[in-house]
Amino acid sequence: MDESIAQLLDGKALAERIYGQLQEQIQQIQANAGRPPGLAVLMVGDNPASAAYVRNKERACAKVGIASYGSHFPTETTASELEQVIQNLNQDERVDGILVQLPLPSHLDAVSLLHQIDPDKDADGLHPLNLGRLVRSEAGLRSCTPAGVMRLLQEYQIDVKGKQAVVVGRSILVGKPLALMLLDADATVTIAHSRSHDLPAITRNADILLAAVGRPALITAEMVKPGAVVIDVGINRVTDDAGNSRLVGDVHFDSVEKVAKFITPVPGGVGAMTVAMLLQNTVWSYSQRYL
Ligand code: NDP
Repeated sequence: MDESIAQLLDGKALAERIYGQLQEQIQQIQANAGRPPGLAVLMVGDNPASAAYVRNKERACAKVGIASYGSHFPTETTASELEQVIQNLNQDERVDGILVQLPLPSHLDAVSLLHQIDPDKDADGLHPLNLGRLVRSEAGLRSCTPAGVMRLLQEYQIDVKGKQAVVVGRSILVGKPLALMLLDADATVTIAHSRSHDLPAITRNADILLAAVGRPALITAEMVKPGAVVIDVGINRVTDDAGNSRLVGDVHFDSVEKVAKFITPVPGGVGAMTVAMLLQNTVWSYSQRYL
């Protein structure tokens, strides 16, 4: 008997299309602005995963024509040194977006550093002012990962209006802003977390199930309503018995793809969209200065 297999929501392909659109938009604005958009990615310490993310972001910037003004700082860099760097970038006319790559070494407080970023240059959409704008449904820079999820749903014409959306995870980086964006799009939203009782009963209710947890294969087929849309935000590195390491999401892909109608792959799903939204935010800030 044929088993139906979910359609993939291809974040990588959509990200490439967005890069093409951004490139055109930049060319148009640049004629008037006389300079390309600029993004500064600040990385502290030598976390290899962060270094790979930063390289990806800089590569994507180069592809669309955004100038990178990023810097790497040694682990022992102090908060006041970083604050000074951020203040300089806030004043720098060539820079439209500033982002601090997380996580930071333990002696640094991410929240107080994020507060230093000019909200109009907050490419990651994590400044309290931009989060406040999201809560109030006002226009503003949006957190990249949730914005990428919403864009992916829109691209595949998945209407969330009136649907039951269950977000597993409530971080300020993903779960909370994602839930707010779904609410803004008129979904009926439930947020589950580590203290939720009977997670499978909650997730089985979801027309759209979004996992942002950081636990490999937490979401199994039994937890998914047949025909649901499953969005896997998780990125987890796992090593098999043979010692090979690979990236997996929070969803047990092989079983869930047989139950769901749509599913995002990891990698190539939400992760690719996150970078695209970062570039889109940078170009949006740039465009606001030359309207
Ligand atoms: P956090 O660790 O900040 O938050 C995880 C959330 O999951 C928390 O709200 C936690 O609940 C909840 N949780 C933990 N265990 C369970 C459980 N067993 N059942 C239900 N909920 C649980 O992670 P992030 O939000 O920063 O990231 C989540 C995942 O998304 C990670 O894998 C991360 O790598 C990935 N990620 C991917 C991005 C992308 O571009 N694709 C971008 C950013 C993150 P509680 O609040 O109760 O502790």
